[in-house]
Amino acid sequence: MKTLKHYLKRAQEESFTIGHYNFSDFTQLKAIVSAGEKNKSPIILGTSEGESKFFGLEEAVALRNVLRKKIGLPIFLNLDHGKSFEYVKEAIDAGYDMVHFDGSKMPLDENIKITKQVVKYARRRGVLVEGEVGKIGNESSKLYSEKFIIDENDLTKPDDAERYIKETKVDLLAVSIGNFHGIEISGIDPNLRLDILKAIKEKVGKTFLSLHGGSGTPEDDIKDAIKLGICKININTEIRLAFSGNLRKFLNSNMEEIAPYNYLATAKIAAEGVVDRKIKLFGSANKI
Ligand SMILES: [Zn+2]
Repeated sequence: MKTLKHYLKRAQEESFTIGHYNFSDFTQLKAIVSAGEKNKSPIILGTSEGESKFFGLEEAVALRNVLRKKIGLPIFLNLDHGKSFEYVKEAIDAGYDMVHFDGSKMPLDENIKITKQVVKYARRRGVLVEGEVGKIGNESSKLYSEKFIIDENDLTKPDDAERYIKETKVDLLAVSIGNFHGIEISGIDPNLRLDILKAIKEKVGKTFLSLHGGSGTPEDDIKDAIKLGICKININTEIRLAFSGNLRKFLNSNMEEIAPYNYLATAKIAAEGVVDRKIKLFGSANKI
């Protein structure tokens, strides 16, 4: 199987993006992989610290291995928003393909210091590292009923990104360009600051750029961001909404149903539909 780096490079060269899809239970995981299989698309599976503590790091690795072997799809596993060196190390030791160290809330010097530690540990083991500079709004995926205000100071400063990349040598950089975790209640988030993305790209050269909070982002912005060099986009909220919404609806209208393989089936189809649409939007179909 070709490496994740191979696919990211290909995405960068051919202007498509690889989707990163979060899961915290086996039905969601199956839905994501099934959409990848149908579209012949490389897939990055993601677990945040919370998701991986619920699911289990070793369990996630074991299932990645089983599914890779069974369907032969390039499926990769990433620890999303690891907050400490210790937890990131646990994910690497468990067998994750990639780790995202999120030191964005730390002062830049400290962020750089710990990221360097992560890169040193990861690189020897063939694991890719994503770093983050600038703050991406919000703690968790949810629906915001009021307009989400982005503080200009939280956006990634191109000069900081340049220094961070030079000193840490991470493989990927998560940028804050108006994106945030969660979705506005309207379903459509504010536009991305593509001017800032362009300026960052000029400073960081071939570093792979990653966009978090892809749920709810206007589709034209996604397409433009891919043209400007974004080669990984994270989707979580839309999958959670489709999965939980359908599950709730099904259980409410089928009060007698108690068999998980029955009530989880519609939730799986809904989650799979979200991933299917993203794969088509990202242009990653038939790229394996
Ligand atoms: Zn994120």
